[in-house]
Amino acid sequence: MKRRIPYTRPSITEKEVAYATDAARNGWGAHCYDYIHRFERLFREYVGTEYAIATSSCTGAMHMGLAALGVGPGDEVILADTNWIATAAPIVHLGATSVMVDILPDTWCIDPEKAEAAITPRTRAIIATHIYGNMCDMDRLFEIGERHGIPIVEDAAEAIGSRWRGRHAGSMGAFGTFSFHGTKTVTTGEGGMFVTNDPELYETVLTLSNHGRSRTQTKQFWPDMVGFKYKISNVQAAIGCAQMERIEELVARKREIFYAYRDALEGVEGISMNPEPEGTTNGFWMPTVVFDRETGVSREMLQEAFARENIDARVFFWPLSDLPMLQGRFPTPNAHDIAARAINLPSYHDILDEEINSVISVIRDLL
Ligand SMILES: *Cc1c(COP(=O)(O)O)cnc(C)c1O
Repeated sequence: MKRRIPYTRPSITEKEVAYATDAARNGWGAHCYDYIHRFERLFREYVGTEYAIATSSCTGAMHMGLAALGVGPGDEVILADTNWIATAAPIVHLGATSVMVDILPDTWCIDPEKAEAAITPRTRAIIATHIYGNMCDMDRLFEIGERHGIPIVEDAAEAIGSRWRGRHAGSMGAFGTFSFHGTKTVTTGEGGMFVTNDPELYETVLTLSNHGRSRTQTKQFWPDMVGFKYKISNVQAAIGCAQMERIEELVARKREIFYAYRDALEGVEGISMNPEPEGTTNGFWMPTVVFDRETGVSREMLQEAFARENIDARVFFWPLSDLPMLQGRFPTPNAHDIAARAINLPSYHDILDEEINSVISVIRDLL
């Protein structure tokens, strides 16, 4: 059997090890927040927001952000059917309904027209998930949000390094969330970030994130509301600081890997890959190939072909509306159709040229 090619693996250098070691050795007592505050500062400087709160996960950041927007029982939140369940779960936990709509065939992100058509008096937010690093059409979404008085929220878990007209993914909406899960471009093992430019939303989420204890509360151990416990640890944040000091390199390598695939497949008929339209930058978290319907290549054929070569390629996200516990209100033909003939390619930072070539051979053989 050939050596396994993993689909993602974190890029950990001596810097991450040194910072984590320092946090484990010295980051206690009066220093137990040092790396957390530094991580938050480095992050907000990078994405260009006023505020950032490090969290235990992106899911937790989304849960608190939606709670701070007032999402509750009976409310509805609109999101793309092509998504990880992490985007929908907080909606359900808040007692609201996740309303999935179809994606655009070229960006695989939420179709703004379909989102607008799904708005009801109960709609409290629209979530723009920048899938695999691809940017949502933020101009259209903001225009719709403004016209209906509905906040646009960004799930940028997969989109660090992506930009829309120069602005970072996650930095434009009412709030944005990021993931530092071990598979993401920047990792802390597990972890996330909540970012916003809204001082009120920031204060609310800060209070929620610490079991509802407001930082202006002078009484000790006195929660002002029932909150959450979604804080990151100093040791994780130390790894995050090292990653943020390497952020340009981490994103540049992801882009380099994408273009290595793209260039090698240039001129190959029957496939398309992540788009990078005029005015956007794609962080290319996950290089993805969609096979044209005419090729007859299916998800199952792709999985089998890659497994045979011991290549860890991942299936495109299943439409959330297919999950019995979520179910759909609207037809989502694009989300279903594309998922049935697409695959995520390995893109870990240290991937070798010969490994990229093995992946490309599998694709070429299938066509
Ligand atoms: C990874 C991911 C999340 C969840 O991130 P966690 O840190 O694991 O909670 C949310 N949304 C999307 C689109 C993701 O890819």
